[in-house]
This record gives sequence, structure tokens and C-alpha cells, in this order.
Amino acid sequence: MSILKVNLLPRDYSYQVEIVDDFLDNVRDYVRQAVKTDQYAIIADENICKIYGAKIKNQIKKGARKVELISFPAGEKSKNWEKVGELARKMIQLGFDRKCCIIALGGGVTGDLAGLVASVFLRGVALIQIPTSLLAMVDSSIGGKTGVDVLEGKNLMGTFYQPRKVITNISFLDTLPESEFLNGLAEVVKHSVIWDRSHFLNIAGNARQILKRDPIILKKIITKTIQIKAEIVMKDEQEARLRRILNFGHTFGHAIEAQSKYKLLHGQAVAMGMHFACRLAEEFGFSETEKIIRLLKQFKLPVCPDKNYDHGRLLKKMYNDKKSVRGKIYFVLPKKIGEVFFAEVDECNLREHLRSFQETCGI
Ligand code: ADP
Ligand code: ZN
Repeated sequence: MSILKVNLLPRDYSYQVEIVDDFLDNVRDYVRQAVKTDQYAIIADENICKIYGAKIKNQIKKGARKVELISFPAGEKSKNWEKVGELARKMIQLGFDRKCCIIALGGGVTGDLAGLVASVFLRGVALIQIPTSLLAMVDSSIGGKTGVDVLEGKNLMGTFYQPRKVITNISFLDTLPESEFLNGLAEVVKHSVIWDRSHFLNIAGNARQILKRDPIILKKIITKTIQIKAEIVMKDEQEARLRRILNFGHTFGHAIEAQSKYKLLHGQAVAMGMHFACRLAEEFGFSETEKIIRLLKQFKLPVCPDKNYDHGRLLKKMYNDKKSVRGKIYFVLPKKIGEVFFAEVDECNLREHLRSFQETCGI
């Protein structure tokens, strides 16, 4: 058995991200060590329920009074207020009270949704995050953000709510579909570019083994990425400034993701967004775009949109992004791989850059 621990120290208390690989044999111990109670509500989407639900529920059941599996349809479309209400009502009907613990078992959608339920159910109950997708492991399960989408945009409602523990089990990745795995790799690359050059070189040097999901290499890469994310969010829990560097690739990424009507996976849109930001950074002297592009391509991520998008709508979306401040857009741009800076870009320059990016991409 091996447990790697990353400490997170938000303002009020500390908790750990445990990176384990024997979770499925010892579910009960891990869960009870994280939160001791006699009532656990496992919230998972239908895919995860089918693959892991019964096994995990049965194991936790030994010794606990009430363990229920509550499922919802997989996918972003479930991330809405109605679902939060439905899940909370279901929990009341099943007899859960304040002493219960919610286990968010699944990808980023489940973490965001179940995390939000935990933060408002009876004014807040204990939460354990068990991420099962690569994206959730390295990104969305760390930092205590919860959220749902509204018609006007993604993640526009939510809370900061820290779990008691995040249990990351690498072997969940055995069943993750290829496209979702590649989707998560975009965020892995992002963390290395914004924070740690040697991590980037390590990823690039091991790209083939990563794609083959070599468990030893994957565990090292995932652990390092979690450490980076934890370090950044610990320094800036409520996103005052530093945490915004995590937005690298997301300004253009969110806009193109929305304009594709979410046909693009988040990681694919972020890969294009990182390319877009790198080209913009070249105007400030950045010279390592090709290295980043090469790695993204190796990870079978698209670096260019496949058709020309409506520039006016892209611009509007970028300005409406909740991370733009008082009508100004601050782009997170790389100075070199491993270090980024904030650059204010005015609308005129951005329009021009959209045009030249389109040319670069040959669309
Ligand atoms: P993300 O994790 O990318 O934010 P989701 O929570 O929607 O988004 O997860 C992406 C998809 O992958 C969903 O259909 C989910 O059911 C599926 N999924 C997540 N983890 C696993 C896994 N370990 N095995 C199989 N499918 C998984
Ligand atoms: Zn992201």
C-alpha cells in the first residue's frame, strides 16, 4: 500500500489529498478515516454507478447504518440548480441528517454538483471528494470550488467549500475513456507551463508512457500536478490574484468551447486556448510556443479550431468571462515555460490577434 499526501491549508483547517492505488480493496477504511459517521450518501453519475457503485457501496456498508447511492445522468447537462434541488430532496427523503457525509464519486461534473449539494444541504455537511477522471484528479477536485451552470454561462453559481479529504485513486483511470483521458492531459500540461519547467520537461520526456497509462509514471505526473495546484490554491484560496494564473488557456478556451456549443471537450478548448495565449505572448518576447504545441499534439489535442468562428461573438464571450475585471481582459501569458505574467490586452489588439491566429491556423 502506498499513500502520498498533499496537505492543503485553507483558512480554517487543513485537509489532505491522499494519492493511493489500493482504494478499491480498502474503501471502507479510507472513507471512515476521512469522516467517521454512520450515514454516507454516495453521489455519482450513472456511468460511475454502473462500474463502481455497487462495489463501493457494499464495502462502506459494513458497519455503517445508512449508505445510499444516489445517481444522476452523466454529463454537463446535469450541472444545474434543478439537479442540486433534486439531489438534496432525495437525501431528505432517504432520511439523511446533519451528521451525514456526502461522497462525491466521479469526474468534475460530480465533484462540482455534489460539492455544491454538500455546501447547502442542511446548511452544510461533511464532504469527501473521490475524483475518478484525470481532469478531476489534477484540477477540479483541488481547491474547494463547487458550481453549476446557468443559461448565461458555465459555473456562474457556486460556493467555495472544502472537503474533509480528497482521495485520489489512480486505478480509476483504467476505465476512463480515451477522449476523457486526453481531455485531462490538457490541464496537466497547463499546470506545468504556468508553474514548473522541470515538470513540463518530465511530461514531454515521458509522453509515450503517459499515453500508454503506465501506472508508475502516471502516479508521479499526477502527484506533481496535484502538488502544483495545491500550492497555488493554498496561496490564494479565494482567487484574489495568484489563482488566476490557473486561467491560462481558458479565456479563449471558454469562448471557443461555448461557441462550439460544448461539442469540444473542455481540455480540447483549453489546448487551443493555450496555443492562442502562446502566440499572443510571442508579442512580448515568448519563444517556446513550438515546444508546447508539439506536446499537445502528441497528446492528440487540437491546437487550432477546425473552422473559423465568429470573431465578434468570441470577443463578447471573452469580455463576459467572469474572470475579466471591469471590462478589461487580463490574459495569463507565458514568459517562459514555467513562468507566467498577466497582460492587459485591449479590444483592438485582441481583434487583430484573432485575425492573425486564424491565419496561423490556416482556417
Ligand atoms: P470531467 O471529469 O471531464 O470534468 P465528467 O464528470 O462529465 O467531466 O466526466 C467525464 C465523463 O467520464 C463522464 O461521462 C463520466 O461518467 C466519465 N468517467 C469519469 N470517470 C470515469 C472512470 N474512472 N471510468 C469511466 N468513466 C468515467
Ligand atoms: Zn479548466
